[in-house]
Amino acid sequence: MLGWSINLFRIRGIRISLHFSFLLLLAYVCDEGWREAGLPGLLWSAGIFLAFFTCVVLHELGHSLTAMRFGVTVRRILLMPIGGMAEFDRIPRKPSQELLITIAGPAVNFVIAGVLWLIVGLPGAADDDSMAMSFKALAQVLALWNIRIGLFNLIPAFPMDGGRILRAFLAMRLPYLRATYWAAMVAKVVTVPGALIELYRGNYFAVAIFVFIFIAGQAEYQAVKRREEDDRWREALIQHVVSTPGEEPPLLNG
Ligand SMILES: [Zn+2]
Repeated sequence: MLGWSINLFRIRGIRISLHFSFLLLLAYVCDEGWREAGLPGLLWSAGIFLAFFTCVVLHELGHSLTAMRFGVTVRRILLMPIGGMAEFDRIPRKPSQELLITIAGPAVNFVIAGVLWLIVGLPGAADDDSMAMSFKALAQVLALWNIRIGLFNLIPAFPMDGGRILRAFLAMRLPYLRATYWAAMVAKVVTVPGALIELYRGNYFAVAIFVFIFIAGQAEYQAVKRREEDDRWREALIQHVVSTPGEEPPLLNG
């Protein structure tokens, strides 16, 4: 469904893959850098781009390594221009587990920002050496960007992290399907106006992200609903089999 991708390497058994559109974006960024300042511009742009996406991988690893502690198999982390996606074989039904797995992602971004600020200090401090200055500026931009990514992911638009956290809290009180329904509902309330505002502002990349979240939220709600119906059907069959009297072996379709 997600088309062509290339595998980079494995971390603790998790494949890290690049979607081909990611490579297109990298090529675009390198081209912009080249036009602006030749080879140094190209290297600088590529470096910044890769630094940002390393943080995206670390965010997904936060989710993945926490999930693995709960026995979830993580097939791969796929990098796309809109961000990363960790592919789990299942999402734990226990709200407390989903909560911890979800919080681990944005927590990684906040930790990265904190560590970068500890190393280079908060923005504003002057530096004489221009090379050190530019690295410092980059680290500060990267720190700020991590804060933004961490906060953006906490927007309660299921299946974004904030939406999953909301579902986990709801699932502590409501049946799982109901909790998912309300989380997906809140996501609609957030993404539709969000997309319209960004459309008005001409920010088409943000519009695409909101549309993607909207579709993904609905798809995941439908998947949970289907699974729930399957489970109920299976349970009904078992009940039927259990309650069938007689010495004959019970037939499922009897
Ligand atoms: Zn996340």
